[in-house]
Amino acid sequence: MTMTRRDLLIASAALAAAPALGARAFAAPLPREADIVVIGAGAAGIAAARRIMAANRKVIVVEATGQIGGRCLTDTATFGVPFDRGARWMHNPDTNPMIKLARSAGLDISAAPLGQKIRIGRRNARAGETEEFLAALVRANRAIDDASRGKADVSCASALPKDLGDWAGTAEFVLGANATGKDLKDVSAMDKARAQERNAAIACRQGLGTLIAKLGADVPLSLSTPASRMAWSGRDVTVETPAGKIAARAAVITVSSNVLAAGTIKFTPDIPKRQLDAAAKLGLGSYDRIALALPGNPLGLSRDDVIIEQSNSTRTALLLANMAGSSLCAIDVAGSFGRDLSDQGEAAMVAFAVEWLTKLFGSDAASAVKKTSATRWNAAPFALGAMSVAAPGAQPSRKILTEPIGCMFLAGEATHETLWGTVDGAWESGERAAEAALRRIGALRDTEPAAPAPVPKRRRRAAPARTAMPGAPIN
Ligand SMILES: Cc1cc2nc3c(=O)[nH]c(=O)nc-3n(C[C@H](O)[C@H](O)[C@H](O)COP(=O)(O)OP(=O)(O)OC[C@H]3O[C@@H](n4cnc5c(N)ncnc54)[C@H](O)[C@@H]3O)c2cc1C
Repeated sequence: MTMTRRDLLIASAALAAAPALGARAFAAPLPREADIVVIGAGAAGIAAARRIMAANRKVIVVEATGQIGGRCLTDTATFGVPFDRGARWMHNPDTNPMIKLARSAGLDISAAPLGQKIRIGRRNARAGETEEFLAALVRANRAIDDASRGKADVSCASALPKDLGDWAGTAEFVLGANATGKDLKDVSAMDKARAQERNAAIACRQGLGTLIAKLGADVPLSLSTPASRMAWSGRDVTVETPAGKIAARAAVITVSSNVLAAGTIKFTPDIPKRQLDAAAKLGLGSYDRIALALPGNPLGLSRDDVIIEQSNSTRTALLLANMAGSSLCAIDVAGSFGRDLSDQGEAAMVAFAVEWLTKLFGSDAASAVKKTSATRWNAAPFALGAMSVAAPGAQPSRKILTEPIGCMFLAGEATHETLWGTVDGAWESGERAAEAALRRIGALRDTEPAAPAPVPKRRRRAAPARTAMPGAPIN
């Protein structure tokens, strides 16, 4: 018996509402076959499925966790207001497809005001100091861009000017850990320079996780159904899950580069070492969010104020205060420091956040904390990290990941050459892989135009984001 879309949706809703049930609780069995099977219901997987549905082909998405969204996950339960545990901003409003999709899904979109503040100890940086920092960022960006044009790829850290003075650590944090989840010594200058400038921060009031869930509402999918093995050839593929097997003529695999490299899914035959190595070289950085409910605005900040500090250590963070006008404040930790901290668990993360706020704003903040929650993306078994970034020398790995593997096509943010680490990059990659899969099964002719998936030209970053603050949170 084939499971209808309605059955799947009912089953999915039941699972989402009752995660305590644990294993699958389907109202009907998993379909035995599809034209194309999609692994993962994050942004890339939902985009792929929608594209396949638009071509009138039968698709089924299998998702390991109990919800749609992957690294876009909105928590509305903990604080009573939407808290994006993963992605929260959409950038580049002129080209970002997610903004239009959010509007058409009836969600509310607004540009975040992003007040600009840098703390130097207990005070705000003066205008002249902020100017100095901006100038340091411009020089650092330029040096990375220049280095990226060299013969051999190098780390961003090795390209940095040596005379950034008091702003060296802050520039490293803003360009490295905060932007990519990795310290600059672990980031390829070519990868960083090829990344499209992220020039604005657009928020979705209901959350980006809510957006992806809405966009996936009509997609045939099966939650809590991890793919454990895929037997593949040039002609067809069989996906094994705890709920049964699905046979398809092609597959789109959207799991993160870390999940792919970890071997969570077994392949028969093995997938080529070339692609596995590429995934490993595009390992995910660490980026986590420690959310504190701080009623009464003890920090004296405005809605969506972003605070970074002048720091000469990696033990630093970024604060987004009074999120969307609520009393919720998020302290983001990233890079090697963030990774070590999240390894220590939620209590240590909250303790750091409180200590950091106390250092910058005084002890009133600590006593005002009411409720807390922290993400730990590195420990999430079906993500294993935050966003991909190429190790020095590994920028070409992104293209390698887009090469077909028999009738299987990889998608996900790591496969996007300029929008890696973003939701729109993941979305575009899903559409692109779906089109490749549709072509493979003869459902799309080579001459047919692909769905619009503009790959913006690389723009030289003469200055940091024009419309955002110097430390604009890209994540
Ligand atoms: C803290 C944080 C902040 C971020 N901030 C931003 C931001 O502000 N703006 C932005 O644009 N981007 C941001 N990003 C990055 C963005 O979230 C990702 O680039 C994007 O969501 C990735 O989508 P994806 O579909 O490629 O992968 P994923 O979202 O990881 O989707 C893959 C899916 O596959 C599933 N899966 C894994 N293994 C299996 C299996 N064996 N079987 C079935 N399913 C499986 C996973 O559960 C997951 O749902 C942020 C990320 C994090 C973690």
